[in-house]
Amino acid sequence: MPTVFITGASRGIGRAAALLFAGQGYLTAVNYNRSKAEALSLIDKIRSFGGHAVAIQGDVSDFARCAEMIKKAEDAFGPVDTLINNAGISCDKLFTDTSPEDWSRTFAVNVGGAYNCCRAVLPGMISRKRGSIVNVSSMWGVTGGSCEVAYSASKAAVIGFTQALAKELAPSGITVNCVAPGAIDTEMNAHLTAEERRMLEEEIPLGRMGSPEEVAAAIAFLAGEDARYFTGQVLSPNGGIVI
Ligand code: NAP
Repeated sequence: MPTVFITGASRGIGRAAALLFAGQGYLTAVNYNRSKAEALSLIDKIRSFGGHAVAIQGDVSDFARCAEMIKKAEDAFGPVDTLINNAGISCDKLFTDTSPEDWSRTFAVNVGGAYNCCRAVLPGMISRKRGSIVNVSSMWGVTGGSCEVAYSASKAAVIGFTQALAKELAPSGITVNCVAPGAIDTEMNAHLTAEERRMLEEEIPLGRMGSPEEVAAAIAFLAGEDARYFTGQVLSPNGGIVI
């Protein structure tokens, strides 16, 4: 059975991806940072349907910690075949209010987390000459979002990272792809008022926000055997808001 390591899997899109991979038979390593109770309840849920999962705590912005986390996953389940760099934070503020600390933290988690985890898994994947990596960007990384400059820039960096790494790793039989979701119904958007949400949904051609499960399906496709001829690609489940 293949092993998948999913960052930021305690909640939202990462949680939905963990349930989907575990349901498909993957040995599933669930990374969380602060939401221990949510991560443990997810593990219980996966085990309740006969799946295999472990919860591994750690902040993806910490390079040494990422190496330890991958080692823990490999000790539990064997080599990591699939890495999902999903952990992310938003930074919703005017650019002129964005502090150097906001800027650094947004990049440290959203871009640094992907760098750190890729550095940890790649020596093994390269020596085995196989593996798949899926990074989670955002539509704002494609179009730019007002009052989200740090977030948009970090998510654009994730796309550039994906494309360059895909070219470098293709000769080693490793695919690197990216999803760039639109507005998804998770806690990341819980700050929206009912009126803001209604206005947002009016702008989306399909008339609603996406679900975490809909993004998880795109992630699982890009990570799986049916997508072995995809690399360096950006798939955007966004309800048509960016076409
Ligand atoms: P969410 O509900 O806020 O969940 C975020 C997840 O990331 C949590 O599991 C959190 O873990 C984890 N996380 C945050 N900082 C971390 C860190 N330093 N180390 C390890 N884990 C960390 O967000 P979401 O909507 O599911 O977002 C998941 C990804 O999709 C993010 O990359 C986000 O940018 C992207 N995205 C979301 C949307 C959207 O509309 N929701 C749209 C486009 C892209 P803990 O709670 O355990 O700390």
